[in-house]
Amino acid sequence: MTATRIDGKAFAATVREKVAVHVANLKAEHGITPGLAVVLVGEDPASQVYVRSKGKQTQEVGMKSVEHKLDAATSEADLLALIDKLNRDETIHGILVQLPLPKHLNEDLVINAIDPAKDVDGFHISNVGLLGTGQKSMVPCTPLGCLMMLRDHHGSLSGMDAVVIGRSNIVGKPMAQLLLGDSCTVTIAHSRTKDLPDVVRRADIVVAAVGRAEMVPGSWIKPGATVIDVGINRVDAGLKDDGSPKTRLVGDVDFASACEIAGAITPVPGGVGPMTIACLLANTLTACCRVNGLAEPE
Ligand code: NDP
Repeated sequence: MTATRIDGKAFAATVREKVAVHVANLKAEHGITPGLAVVLVGEDPASQVYVRSKGKQTQEVGMKSVEHKLDAATSEADLLALIDKLNRDETIHGILVQLPLPKHLNEDLVINAIDPAKDVDGFHISNVGLLGTGQKSMVPCTPLGCLMMLRDHHGSLSGMDAVVIGRSNIVGKPMAQLLLGDSCTVTIAHSRTKDLPDVVRRADIVVAAVGRAEMVPGSWIKPGATVIDVGINRVDAGLKDDGSPKTRLVGDVDFASACEIAGAITPVPGGVGPMTIACLLANTLTACCRVNGLAEPE
């Protein structure tokens, strides 16, 4: 059996198109342009790539995009002052502080300084609590993208056994909450889980969010299960023609062997990654509609 590929890139394009239509309507009917501010502290190369990509896609759907690039040595007080300014800026509906922050900055303090209504990453403690209690919140983008792909593929997830590998605050835990919200029976696995292969083998849905290249082989997957691979890992891929080292991206799942067993699987790249930014745009639109008392997009 060869698993169906869940095409996150194509799905993300349809999400962006819907967001763009809604943004155009907001402008035409209400004179409102949703605005997203992204704050980057320091020079982390991967973060710089993400921020560029977010800015470009924000503009492409017709939103206002603002980037604040701060020096790595920026003080906590200065960063908090910027967040305060953005919180009060009525043209900004979403604020995202790119993580990780340099070590001298307290991430929890910084994230919790964002107005929860503008917290489009869904990491503010209020949004975490709202999600955990099944109330309307801002939902973290990566798990939201995973849930959208699962719903699209299966329709209802009710009663399915789901295993989330990884318990981080930004992926694993909110993913588990969302699956529980859709009435899955959810197991959260982590580095201390005993007999991980057996735990994974019971699951109709496997979400791998670990950060270990190709850790989950096909032999762990239940035949026909749906596999969502969140992992982004850069590995060596030999040498380029000019002799310099070549790398490629792989997920947390061994794609080739998992394809033989799974019913459906997201590739890396082209699966969860593109959905994450699309959901950021969707969250910014949602935040804008909520603050203006307008109907939210579906
Ligand atoms: P973290 O490092 O914060 O969390 C990793 C989790 O994996 C931890 O809960 C850890 O367990 C668990 N883990 C580590 N080793 C094992 C093991 N051997 N067996 C079982 N569990 C293990 O990572 P993130 O959640 O931030 O990210 C996970 C992956 O997803 C990364 O590759 C990251 O790059 C990617 N990612 C992709 C995004 C996208 O848009 N596609 C967005 C965000 C992340 P413990 O808690 O016990 O240490």
